[in-house]
Amino acid sequence: MSILPQHKYPLKSLHHVHTCHHVFLPTRVQCSAPAATTTTTKRRRNPNQLVIEPRLVTPPTLGPDTDRPVLNDPNLQSTWPHRAWVASGCTTVLVALVKSVTGAADSHIWVEPILAGLVGYVLADLGSGVYHWAIDNYGDASTPIFGTQIEAFQGHHKWPWTITRRQFANNLHALARSVTFVVLPMDLAFNDPATLGFVGVCSGCIMFSQQFHAWAHGTKSRLPPPVVALQDAGLLVSRSQHAAHHRPPYNNNYCIVNGVWNEFLDKQKVFEALEMILFFKLGVRPRSWSEPNSEWTEETEALSSQITAN
Ligand SMILES: [Zn+2]
Ligand SMILES: [Zn+2]
Repeated sequence: MSILPQHKYPLKSLHHVHTCHHVFLPTRVQCSAPAATTTTTKRRRNPNQLVIEPRLVTPPTLGPDTDRPVLNDPNLQSTWPHRAWVASGCTTVLVALVKSVTGAADSHIWVEPILAGLVGYVLADLGSGVYHWAIDNYGDASTPIFGTQIEAFQGHHKWPWTITRRQFANNLHALARSVTFVVLPMDLAFNDPATLGFVGVCSGCIMFSQQFHAWAHGTKSRLPPPVVALQDAGLLVSRSQHAAHHRPPYNNNYCIVNGVWNEFLDKQKVFEALEMILFFKLGVRPRSWSEPNSEWTEETEALSSQITAN
């Protein structure tokens, strides 16, 4: 069972990619810098002035058909090393939680560990947003340590539906490996139930954020009812909220645990402010200023059915 390219993209979309080189999207605030491309404006422009200008977008060319994932793509399947990393990540998280619970039971102090766990759950969402924003916007496949994740997220933006076909351990192993290295020393170093409650819940939510992300790409009719209920209750990132991340202007809704931070971060333009700071301090442009991918799509119920039918 495999998917032919024409099943994934409307003909109109393919035609667009091959015939157009530039597309004007709605205006947005951008920065002009001394090294920016000169234009034929009559008015002299302050080099550091904020200007509103049309957004010139160069849609990336799609690679050859062989670059596109297919349903039985080995890159979507779990390997034993993937499973081993997920097992070690889950073990380190469980050790933190079990130590927290037994410590709370011994001391009969439950409020602090529970509150610490709730704080961990809320902050994990913020952490997932900051990390997602960073790897969406900076670096590339050659970046040390994070290169593979950056490449994977770029691939996700080109073919969002593949995350729903990616096997569990394949999807989680990278975060599970990081959790193992960070949390294992904490398991050994800490005995305070509140600290371990925070560490266990926060690291667990971060490790499973890719599963929550995958569910956010699912369709209601195919997701387990408890998952839909948790999404609808706002306890896991909702499908509609994450779908907005894959639509223009492609620079919002980065948080993927429960999405509780998304509205605040987007309304206060926190990531845009960080992008400005990094641009003026380091001269680095975020990818979202120049490469919103017109091919980024969300998997619709109809497309999902079409894929399965083929
Ligand atoms: Zn993204
Ligand atoms: Zn996504």
